[in-house]
Amino acid sequence: MTMPIIYNFSAGPAVLPESVLRQAQSEMFDYNGTGFSVMTMSHRSDVFMSILYHAEQDLRQLMNIPNNYKVLFLQGGASAQFNMVVMNLANGFKRVDSVVTGNWSRIAHNQMGKLSDTKIHLAAHGGELYDYTDLPDPSTWDVSPDSAFVHYVINETVHGLQYRDVPKPFANQLPPMVCDMSSEILSRPINVADFGLIYAGAQKNIGPSGATIVIIREDLLDRCSDRIPDVWNYKSHVERQGMYNTPATYPIYISGLVFRWLQSQGGVASMQTINALKAKKLYEAIDGSGGFYTNKVAARARSQMNVVFHAPTPELDKLFAQESTTRGLRLLKGYKTMGGMRASIYNAMPLQGVEALIDFMGEFQKRYG
Ligand SMILES: *Cc1c(COP(=O)(O)O)cnc(C)c1O
Repeated sequence: MTMPIIYNFSAGPAVLPESVLRQAQSEMFDYNGTGFSVMTMSHRSDVFMSILYHAEQDLRQLMNIPNNYKVLFLQGGASAQFNMVVMNLANGFKRVDSVVTGNWSRIAHNQMGKLSDTKIHLAAHGGELYDYTDLPDPSTWDVSPDSAFVHYVINETVHGLQYRDVPKPFANQLPPMVCDMSSEILSRPINVADFGLIYAGAQKNIGPSGATIVIIREDLLDRCSDRIPDVWNYKSHVERQGMYNTPATYPIYISGLVFRWLQSQGGVASMQTINALKAKKLYEAIDGSGGFYTNKVAARARSQMNVVFHAPTPELDKLFAQESTTRGLRLLKGYKTMGGMRASIYNAMPLQGVEALIDFMGEFQKRYG
């Protein structure tokens, strides 16, 4: 029996392009003739500084990041940002507006108030309104221009929800929008200038865990008080060109390889086209199954990155997860609180992977439907 091709549907750490892994493998012992592995070189060496520089430049090119935005590769994951954004940007403000639309924004909402006297105001609650199967329209968010910022999660990785459009009422106005883009960064073109700050853990749609990307509008750095310890202070990191302390060198190197790969694929505009096609096919397979597979998310809010679905019973969910694994379709089991399945179909998931999943879904239904 031949080994099936493995397709990795993990929500994160997630699939990486095969060519990126092969390049990392070939450079593992000797990066570019240096005789060193990237993993073992000083972060202050010219070689690593160049890796960091090019990773930033390539990210700037891919996302078309305006010059008045700074780019940082930090550590601590997206979770650390829940608090860093408040520590740094809410000084002297009475209120932060927070939109809760699923698992991650709910956690962010609960964490943001810690270590801070600023009121974290619930601007909209998708759980109360829709049981997290739809997204509150931005025009209904209760946001004040006097707030430090409005925080939201653009793609809810666990609940499989995604804001299709950037909220327009606030674009380029007060308060600035702070957006968690962990599970969709680089999946489609967005206008960075619509945001005050964007952050994303790299381990979803970029690949390796350990690096957290922060894109911050320059003028907001004036809010970062000197009383904030340097390691948590955006301004300190910007002033030291991301070298305040040792950055996550290897994840930054891998991220840089992913950026190059994205450029070779035609950039985020091409990604958008293929991502839309992958998601369309998968949702069509769910909706066309005559009710065997279900996804309750409203059409306008369905995520193109994380597709959640259920088989008719928890027993069949379990069986689906088991049998798909032996077929090379890996890590499809849903998040612990959600049950069912979740197919994370990030940039690096090829269309063939989605087609293999759809084939298996049909076959599974034939046997158990
Ligand atoms: C995974 C995830 C997080 C948490 O990321 P960590 O890097 O583990 O802290 C936060 N927000 C979103 C949208 C995520 O998908």
